[in-house]
Amino acid sequence: MQIICDRCHQTGEFDPYIFRCACGGAWEPVESLLFDPASIDPAYSSVWRYRDPMGLAEIREPLSLGAGWTPLVDVPWGDMHTSFKLEYMAPSGSFKDRGTEVEANFLAAMGIRDVVEDSSGNAGASLAAYAARTGLHAAIYAPDSASPAKLAQIEVYGAELRRIPGPRSEATRAVLQAVEAGAVYASHAYNPAYLLGQQTFAWELWEQLGGDAPDVLVIPVGQGGLLLGAWLGFRRLLQAGLIARLPRLYAAQPEILAPIVHAFNAGAEEIEEITPTGKSLAEGLAIVKPVRGRRILQALHESGGAGLTVSEAQIGAAYYQLAENGLFAEPSSAAAAAALPQVRQLAGKNAKIIVALTGSGLKSPLEN
Ligand SMILES: [Zn+2]
Repeated sequence: MQIICDRCHQTGEFDPYIFRCACGGAWEPVESLLFDPASIDPAYSSVWRYRDPMGLAEIREPLSLGAGWTPLVDVPWGDMHTSFKLEYMAPSGSFKDRGTEVEANFLAAMGIRDVVEDSSGNAGASLAAYAARTGLHAAIYAPDSASPAKLAQIEVYGAELRRIPGPRSEATRAVLQAVEAGAVYASHAYNPAYLLGQQTFAWELWEQLGGDAPDVLVIPVGQGGLLLGAWLGFRRLLQAGLIARLPRLYAAQPEILAPIVHAFNAGAEEIEEITPTGKSLAEGLAIVKPVRGRRILQALHESGGAGLTVSEAQIGAAYYQLAENGLFAEPSSAAAAAALPQVRQLAGKNAKIIVALTGSGLKSPLEN
């Protein structure tokens, strides 16, 4: 896979043992081909429908669990025209599967047998599922305080769970030590094949909307993989003349841990690491400094979107309001729904809005 550094723009061939550029930047896949709708393979109702647009034609027989092609359901929110993209309807119960299905097949095709990953739970569970499917051995570094259901899920799939005491950032510190000692980092934050898999979100929406883009996409953001996938995916459609403009991208973050929103509102190009003032209900968004922060800010600016914060009370209320509509999503996903009143003010009540519900409510149910 041809890659380019998102910071210094160095290019090269992806080497799984060099997870980031020497400058500290993250690798992005180089996509030189125009998106061609004729290259979509309708035989697959999964991410592999877009094997050719992803440029992964060499993976002829992917080991699939069926990630992708999630439902898009219209559920009004107050007086807004909202639809919810049920990314939690995924093999391991979260949006991570879209990227992990591609990443695991890509690494397995490169002959990799052992991988490590750090995660607050969903990415670890996703990698554990795909490790089981593709025959990889995975060691997952997760905060000791992660949801018991997520930690149990990782172990049930047969991955090696390493519980790390302290905040989420300690799990990253621990995994980086293993990577320095020679492990392959199957990172949902850094791996370019993962990012490629997340772009299928945009292409799928475009197909589900009859060849159109929504006005607005609201996405809960931790590392920002889905937001970046949506941006890069819709950009490809724009370059190919298949849509007239990018959807406005809104990144939702909890008030007590919102590095992206702070940087966006300050007009900064880089994201500063922040110290959270408490533990949010949205545990999946507990990232103090996203790896691809610079690109996330570009995505928000270029699309005409913004970063929005939501309070813990708003996250809790949105969680129950979703459930009252039959949508059982985890609190991290409810953060996006909680931002809808702000989105209405910014985009107008007639905007066609799509909200990504990224993780299943079964993963970390709140007490009623
Ligand atoms: Zn670089």
